[in-house]
Amino acid sequence: MSRYTGAVCKICRREGQKLFLKGERCYTDKCAIEQRAYPPGQHGQGRVRVTEYRLHLREKQKVRYTYGVSESQFRRYYDMAKRTRGVTGEQLLQLLERRLDNIVYRMGFSSSRNAARQLINHGHILVNGRKVDIPSYLVKAGDVVEVKEKSKKMESIGASLENREQRGFAEWLEVDKEARRGRIKALPERKDMPTSIQETLIIEFYSK
Ligand code: SF4
Repeated sequence: MSRYTGAVCKICRREGQKLFLKGERCYTDKCAIEQRAYPPGQHGQGRVRVTEYRLHLREKQKVRYTYGVSESQFRRYYDMAKRTRGVTGEQLLQLLERRLDNIVYRMGFSSSRNAARQLINHGHILVNGRKVDIPSYLVKAGDVVEVKEKSKKMESIGASLENREQRGFAEWLEVDKEARRGRIKALPERKDMPTSIQETLIIEFYSK
């Protein structure tokens, strides 16, 4: 299955929580979850039988949509995580966090991961001084990610950075707002990654 391109607020409503897929709108009362906190569709407010399989599937889908990756990509990350030493669930989350689109978003250069992918695809982002136009590129500790010189004055980047600064930057990132540049101080540990994710459910989904 390829990446989902439909109405993203429906995804949050189906998962029953904010996944922050729409930039600044997610922080306003225009957010669909604030207005209609029940699944979309004619039977959205009906009762759903919660099976173990459904729980595992929904957690996997929630995380996949949050990071904006396709099913096959997500499966590849799971296989990579399994081959890596350490706790598979944590390794999986770390791989997702290391994606360049996630880093651009977390550094505040864009208001959503989707917008980050556009910045990267359009060649606005450099890693260690070289243009990288692959959103799935995996950064390492010590890498420097910055906005290309010609793009540093883009209004959307300035506005996103202001908002991100107010909400605070992740501790494992060092961001120089004025220079439109950031450094990965260290790869994130479990405590640095979203607590709303239950990665063990995802592992159980794939272990079956
Ligand atoms: Fe989800 Fe954002 Fe839409 Fe709210 S506004 S439902 S958080 S994508």
